[in-house]
Amino acid sequence: MNSKKGIAILGSTGSIGTQALEVLESYPDYFDLQVLTAGKNADLLIEQALKYHPNSVVISDESLYQKVKDALWAEDIHVYAGEQALCQVVESNEVHTVLTALVGYAGLKPTIHAIEAGKTIALANKETLVVAGELITKLAKEKGVNIYPVDSEHSAIFQCLVGEFHNPIEKIYLTASGGPFRGFTHEQLKSVSLAQALKHPNWSMGAKITIDSASLMNKGLEVIEAKWLFGLRTDQIDVIVHPQSIVHSLVQFEDGSMKAQMGLPDMKLPIQFALTFPQRLPTNFPRFNFMDYPQLTFEAPDRSVFKNLDLAFQVMDMQGTAACSLNAANEVAVDAFLNEKISFLEIAELNQVVVQESMNVLNPSYEQYVEADTQAREKARQLIAKTN
Ligand code: NAD
Ligand code: MG
Repeated sequence: MNSKKGIAILGSTGSIGTQALEVLESYPDYFDLQVLTAGKNADLLIEQALKYHPNSVVISDESLYQKVKDALWAEDIHVYAGEQALCQVVESNEVHTVLTALVGYAGLKPTIHAIEAGKTIALANKETLVVAGELITKLAKEKGVNIYPVDSEHSAIFQCLVGEFHNPIEKIYLTASGGPFRGFTHEQLKSVSLAQALKHPNWSMGAKITIDSASLMNKGLEVIEAKWLFGLRTDQIDVIVHPQSIVHSLVQFEDGSMKAQMGLPDMKLPIQFALTFPQRLPTNFPRFNFMDYPQLTFEAPDRSVFKNLDLAFQVMDMQGTAACSLNAANEVAVDAFLNEKISFLEIAELNQVVVQESMNVLNPSYEQYVEADTQAREKARQLIAKTN
């Protein structure tokens, strides 16, 4: 029997995926890389497969199958393509933990398959919990599956909760860097460019989450993610802007005591913790020095300017498919902004209109989430077509 931990990385060519591979590379006796997958980046997937020799690779874009297959013909690596293959590879007996590092709604279906197959989930793909948190957490409970957060804020909360199993949470504070437009007025945001929005002050990440960070949608999505991960009510979750990104988030307990988790911003740490919990393996990541940060500052987010944050709280209260509709609208809006079809402020405007105009189905089934996602995307695309 294999004593190493078998890992599947969904989205291995992305920002989280490539950092996860660095983590795995540091502990060859601990991890056994089983699966690598990518959306369209066949070249990097091939390079990774030749370097790390996983058991299987999946390229989601089926038109790239032959390219990957040809490049790996001499290797003992199974090559698959398409969405269905993504769902099947996570079910392999050799896989212990599935790191969901793909971006957006595409993560939902493979995550459901992984949970159904009893795999531990290291969850980076926050959109899965935003879209269908109710369904996912219920399924995980039924199957006895643990979902360990990779998102740095949620990892911070999780780390603060170790040893506190019997102590209820009074409240959590999710910290936010504030992004590149912290302190901007509505007027100033009217003319910001794509290049400015893509320049995050503290983190280097994929394009979608970078734009979400600039619009505070990312923090809104994280509020919803936290609700499902930690079983919280809306009024137990607060957001505080902390531009230095050193305090990664805080938990307040019922005696008023607060615990924070701190460190230099480096996603490899939360990735590693999710893959090795309850162990902490030694690393040579740079250490925090207080003298480099004589001041850690905190401020309230400007909700009147960054409307996505309030919108996230609203859909959380609405329950049902409302958050799914918001997520779908946002994915379409961010894509349009990345292709310079709409302005920065139009992202939040579009999200708001789509949520308002979408039907909210309570206690949704999987099919109803899919339907809500399809409808909201369609509505968002129509709105964009009208403005162009
Ligand atoms: P990224 O864009 O850098 O990488 C995304 C990966 O998913 C790539 O491997 C890509 O090929 C694959 N992919 C994209 N679309 C796909 C599709 N339709 N089907 C299958 N595969 C697809 O994104 P990222 O920044 O690594 O973020 C990944 C997830 O982790 C997101 O949900 C994000 O919110 C979350 N997250 C990222 C960070 C970070 O520092 N980057 C931090 C916290 C949370
Ligand atoms: Mg985060």
